Amino acid sequence: MPPKQPTPTPPAREATAPPPAGNSPTAVPTDVHILWINAGLSCDGDSVSVTAATLPSIEDVVLQGLPGLPKVHMHNPVLATEVGEEFLAPFRAAARGELGAPYVLVVEGSIPNEKVKAEGYWAGWGEDLETRQPILTCDWIDQLAPGAVAVIAIGTCAAYGGIHAMAGNPTGCMGLADYLGWEWRSAAGLPVINVPGCPVQPDNFMETVTYLLYQVAGMAPMIPLDSMLRPTWLFGKTVHEGCDRAGYYEQSDFASEYGSPKCLVRLGCWGPVVNCNVPKRGWMDGVGGCPNVGGICMACTMPGFPDKFMPFMDEPPGSSVSIAMGAPYGRIIRTLRGFTNASGNRETKWRHRGDRLTTGYQETVTTSN
Ligand code: SF4
Ligand code: SF4
Repeated sequence: MPPKQPTPTPPAREATAPPPAGNSPTAVPTDVHILWINAGLSCDGDSVSVTAATLPSIEDVVLQGLPGLPKVHMHNPVLATEVGEEFLAPFRAAARGELGAPYVLVVEGSIPNEKVKAEGYWAGWGEDLETRQPILTCDWIDQLAPGAVAVIAIGTCAAYGGIHAMAGNPTGCMGLADYLGWEWRSAAGLPVINVPGCPVQPDNFMETVTYLLYQVAGMAPMIPLDSMLRPTWLFGKTVHEGCDRAGYYEQSDFASEYGSPKCLVRLGCWGPVVNCNVPKRGWMDGVGGCPNVGGICMACTMPGFPDKFMPFMDEPPGSSVSIAMGAPYGRIIRTLRGFTNASGNRETKWRHRGDRLTTGYQETVTTSN
């Protein structure tokens, strides 16, 4: 089927967005829309994941539970009660430049770039009201990204291509920054903001959105991003640096089967070289976090995922070097700590056993003149 690239056409209904006209951000907007497209190549796992956020929750943000935030209008197809043209109305209005308030564009799923694939198209959303043909996901992005105050790629698929972009895939899909350009800037001067994860850790995403909403409201400085466009405070440390099991690694005490509380590196954990805060943050409301609860880290937040980390569940090649180098140290330290631990588990010698418990207290007799 030849690629069909119709242009978004006027909606059946007008968006309910308030004035002023146009999409331009006002100095301090009273309203901000979140236009969330999940029509990349994805499983909708990021939309589902974000429903578990608590710091802050979706409800906190859309019900104005956070002081200083503008009123937020969330348009997510998994969460919306509207369907069809009623749901699409704000997207069509924004594409025409008539939404009437600033918007943040959230893109979920890798980008099926038909410009590099002549065979056909892979994903679309809504239909052209004249031709009744699907509107390509890429066309929506082309129409909506330039007018957005910020564009967020949610999940590893949207950020870097993810599973769908692995070697041998037929779609030619890619991450959003690969599609728009790593030098691309939004209407407010921001690059694409990547919040990777497969799926995204819910609070990581909601925290990033909240930061951007405060930035749009003029209450936060430019969001700090690393060279892969990730928020630095979320992705600056490795899994290993926050892992509950790192003490076992340091003592060269490794699990050889699942169910063990020990370090999982020999079972295929990539934590020492992966940027992710999940073991520290947990998954839902502080609970969980892959290695913490017995699962290897398979590097799902990383731009090189999945190809560079396969086959999953094999010991990472580089870990054998660090394990071999650390083994003598680990064994000696573990033995010495065992002695100290055993000693520390006994009460001190001066607490004598016998028919009278003594504490070492020496009564001093004072004489007064
Ligand atoms: S389980 Fe993984 S992240 Fe945790 S200590 Fe071992 S190698 Fe590091
Ligand atoms: S710990 Fe590893 S597998 Fe788990 S979310 Fe982070 S990067 Fe992904």
